This record gives sequence, structure tokens and C-alpha cells, in this order.
Amino acid sequence: MRKLLVFVDPGTLNQARVPLLSEQAFEVMTATTVDQGIHLARQQPPDLILCCLDLGRGSNLQLLETMATKPDLLAVPLIVLTHEQNRSYWRQCTNLGADDCLATPFTDGELLEAIAARLRKQDALTQRYNTLMRHTAERLNRLSQYDSLTDLPNHHLLRQRLVQAVQRAALGQQGVALLSISLDRLRQINNTLGYPAGDTLLRAAARRLTGILPRSTAVARLTGNQFAIVLPAPRNRKAVQAVAAEIIDSLSRSFSLPEQEVFVTTSIGIALFPENTEDISTLLRQADAALEFAKQQKSNYCQFYKPDMPVVSGDELQLETWLRYGLKRQEFEVYYQPKQTLMTGRIEGAEALIRWHHPEQGFISPARFVPLAEETGLIVPIGEWVLRTVCAQSARWRQQGLPPVQISVNLSSVQLNQAHLCQTLDKILTDIDLPAHYLQLEVTETALMQDVDSALRLLHEFKDRGIQVALDDFGTGYASLGYLRDLPIDTLKIDTCFVRGVAHDPKNQMILRRIIALAHDLDLAVVAEGVEQAEEMELLKTYGCDAIQGYWVGPPMRAADLLQHL
Ligand code: C2E
Ligand code: MG
Ligand code: MG
Repeated sequence: MRKLLVFVDPGTLNQARVPLLSEQAFEVMTATTVDQGIHLARQQPPDLILCCLDLGRGSNLQLLETMATKPDLLAVPLIVLTHEQNRSYWRQCTNLGADDCLATPFTDGELLEAIAARLRKQDALTQRYNTLMRHTAERLNRLSQYDSLTDLPNHHLLRQRLVQAVQRAALGQQGVALLSISLDRLRQINNTLGYPAGDTLLRAAARRLTGILPRSTAVARLTGNQFAIVLPAPRNRKAVQAVAAEIIDSLSRSFSLPEQEVFVTTSIGIALFPENTEDISTLLRQADAALEFAKQQKSNYCQFYKPDMPVVSGDELQLETWLRYGLKRQEFEVYYQPKQTLMTGRIEGAEALIRWHHPEQGFISPARFVPLAEETGLIVPIGEWVLRTVCAQSARWRQQGLPPVQISVNLSSVQLNQAHLCQTLDKILTDIDLPAHYLQLEVTETALMQDVDSALRLLHEFKDRGIQVALDDFGTGYASLGYLRDLPIDTLKIDTCFVRGVAHDPKNQMILRRIIALAHDLDLAVVAEGVEQAEEMELLKTYGCDAIQGYWVGPPMRAADLLQHL
């Protein structure tokens, strides 16, 4: 039953009309003063207020003014009944919030029609409002569960889906496979082609993933370049592997971005319920641990979780906190990977690679913490520590009368953009009293391409000081070859991906030959990275490559161990 609050004024709505309203199946409450009415309305919110306090002309306006100050009553529709025939009075009423004005004389029928019309309007409004609220709630719900870029479930929803899949699997004594997928090199694409290009790539990758997988498979986007897939009830490992292979195959086809066609590589880590664990959080971390391992291997690699893999807490925040203490607690160490000159067969240089031994978590890979250190800016103090440690080590070897070994240190783009980098370098070299040519800096083409002009200025400053520069991971940065001519660099380090398995890969053989010839034309020395096999070394030698680095020569090692190689 609709509730009316009626301000009874014998003049406009005499007592005789109240029963008329009651007969129309309204529940009628009456009041004779403003205060009384407002008190009633607060206690039992009415569907409509009939305001007919015409006595002394001021009362209707007084009620409207008072109502306007009560936010909880603002939504209640209100009709003014009045003897006043003056239009400006009606306007005054509507300005103060009245929805309608009905002036005497009016019939019972007109009164009832005015009430019904207003209630209908109010119902429509309420309905619209409810729909709007429902849509808003649905949208908020969607935002909290879906990734807005790809429209895929996010990590919250993935977890729910994983819980459901695991519960169902447990009932049917089946398993669940969780695949953690990383699109390698998204960062390079973001850096060189811009974030819109990276976004386009991510959306296209998401479409491909959902396109090849059955509907029962949940596909989610977790963070930046990481996706996850819940595969319910796989028959066996082979079946999981087949899905992984299909994913890799589908993502390794080229992506057409507005500016350029690009290729990405994929790494996949897999954890199995209940084989590896029955705990959801652990399962998620195990898939990540397997993924970290896969990323360290050749591109397009898929890895099942193994119990000896370090499962670092999935929580990046935790890692960041540990990272902040790492320097103070002296948990970092510099390893040196020997570089062999192919002409002489001698070790004439080494690359400094940071290692982190966490007291509880054990070894944490630089591929995992360096990007985080870059994001948080912690790479600046950490990088400075590496530079100082390397220069001090180099100076010690020099004092011991060893033949000169040039040590190269990796510089991240964050360090390159740091205002005082050159002063820091000067200070370290003077403090330690090391000639600048003992030091080589490795920068990636991706880092240089972020701001070519200032990178050029910086490289010239290095050159003026006699510090050598190597272009690291060459060939992975999607940058054009044209700029190579203008860069004041000394060495090109060819990325592992062109070297690995090159003995059986005619395409990569051709690429290696071309890169080496091009580098020599530009007066640059060439170092090939990731050489693991004798046959790879032999090939590189015939191509005229200057030096090689990789497990075939030696893994990254402690300074004392490198001494044996020298
Ligand atoms: P990078 O500069 O390209 O270093 C080469 C990476 O290849 C190293 O990985 C090295 O251990 C690995 N590697 C060397 N030979 C082989 C091989 O024959 N086969 C295979 N599969 N891998 C090989 P690592 O030490 O894990 O470092 C990863 C990346 O982390 C480095 O790539 C570099 O970008 C970054 N990084 C390492 N140390 C530092 C540092 O002190 N400062 C900065 N800014 N970045 C660093
Ligand atoms: Mg390097
Ligand atoms: Mg490299």
C-alpha cells in the first residue's frame, strides 16, 4: 500500500477528502504543522507528500524550505495544493523542490489523477535509478574481477576458478594443471614502440589464447606480460605439454602492430594439482617458479615444476622489502663470466653479473630481481655497489701484476637516466685509482632507444673518459640498424638467441654472418653470448667473431675462480 503524508489544511484539502484518499487504498498519515510532518516522514517515509498548508500563505513555502535542508527527505515527491492563483508563487514552489502545484478549485478526480501521475513518474525514476545502480554494481564487479585491457579474468577471478577446478577435480579424483605464461620481450616492445603498441600486442595475444583453448579452460591475465591458464582434468603430463606446445606455437606467429610486425617468445611454467601440491597458493607459486626457470632457458621453453626449484613467495612486495635490505646485509655478490678472444684463445675480459643469496630463499635470479630493482629505483644504489666492487677487484688484479682483464658491467636504463652517473663513475675510478679503459659498460639497445639524444650525449661522455661501451643483447631490441653508425660504441654483444643451436640453424647462421660483417664494417668488435657448444664456437670463429662468452668458456664464477682461468 502506498503511503501518503498529508498536511491537512481545512482550506485546500478539508478533512472530508482524507477518507477519499483512504478509499483509494492509500495509507494516509496526517500532520498539521511543519515540524510534526517532518517528524512523521522521518519515522515512516511516505511515497508522496501532499502539502496544503496555505494558511497565512507562508506555510507551504516554509515546509519546502525546511524539506530542502533534510537530505533524507529530498527524494520524496511533493505536490503543493494551494488557493494561490499567482504563477510566480507556483514557480517559487517548484524552485524550492515541489514536483507539482494544484490550485483550487480542483475536483476529486483531478486530485487523484495528479497523485497517480506523480507516483507513476516516481516509479519510473526509481526503476531507472535501480537499473543504473545495478549496472554500476555490475561494472564495479567486473572491474574487480577482469583485466580491463584484455577483458580476461584477473588474478582474483583466476584464484576462484582455480579453487572451483581443484574442488571438482578432487571429487572426480582428477588433476588440474596451472600454466603460468610469460610473453618475453614485452618490455622491449613497450620501450621501443610505445605502450599503445604493447597494449595492442597484449590484446591480440589474449585473443589467440582464448581462441585456441576449449571453453572450460580459464585464461587470465595476471600482471604486465604474464598470463595464466587453468586446465581442468588433463589426461596426463603429455596432454598438458601438448597444450603448452600449442600455446607457444600460436604466440610465436607474428603480431601485426600498427607500426611494425613483431615476434615474441613465450616461456611457460607448469604446476600440477595434486601431484605437486594440494594448496592453491603454493600451486600458484610453483607455476611461477617453473616459469622463472623456463625464462632462463632458451626461448619458447616450457617447464614443469620440480621440487628442487626455489619457490619464492609470489608476493612481489615481499621481494621488494628483501631487496631493500639486501645491500645493507651484504647479500649480493659479483660473479665474473670469462670472455675468450677467439684469435688467441685467451681470456682477456669478463662480464660482471650480480648474484643474490637470500638467507632463507637461497639464490634469487637477476632475471627476477633486476626488473624489480629497476622499477623501484633500487638499481641505482645496487648498480653503484656493483661498479665499485668490480673496479676494486680490477685494481687488485692490476696490482698483482696480472695481464689486463677488461671487466664489463651492465647498466640499466634507469642508471643511464640518472643525472649524476658520470660523476659517480669519475669518483669511483679516482677513489680506486683505476685507469678507465679497464672498465667496459654494457647497455642494451632498448635502454638507448628510450631517449636517443641524451643517450648519445652520455655515450660521448663515457668515450671522453676512455670508458669502453658494449651494446648488449644486440638483435632483441626491435631498433633499426641505421642508428648503429652514429653510436660511439666499441663492442656489439650478439644475443644468445642467435647463437644457441646455430650449428643446426641455417637462418641464424646467415644472421650471425651478416651481423659480424656489419659490425666489422663499422669498426666494432663482436662478442657472441651464450656459446654452449664447441661447434658453435667453431662456426663463430670461421665467421670472424672476435670473442665469445658462454658456458663453453665458463659459467659466471667468483673472482677467485676466474683467477684460475686467467
Ligand atoms: P646479460 O647482461 O645479457 O647477461 C648474460 C646472461 O646470460 C647472464 O644471466 C648469464 O649468466 C647468462 N649466460 C651466460 N652464458 C650462458 C650460456 O652459455 N647459456 C645460457 N643459457 N645463459 C648464459 P644472468 O646472470 O642471470 O643475468 C641476467 C641479466 O640480468 C643480465 O643479462 C643483465 O641484463 C642483468 N644483470 C645481471 N647483473 C646485473 C647488474 O649488475 N646490473 C644490471 N643492471 N643488470 C644486471
Ligand atoms: Mg650483459
Ligand atoms: Mg646479454
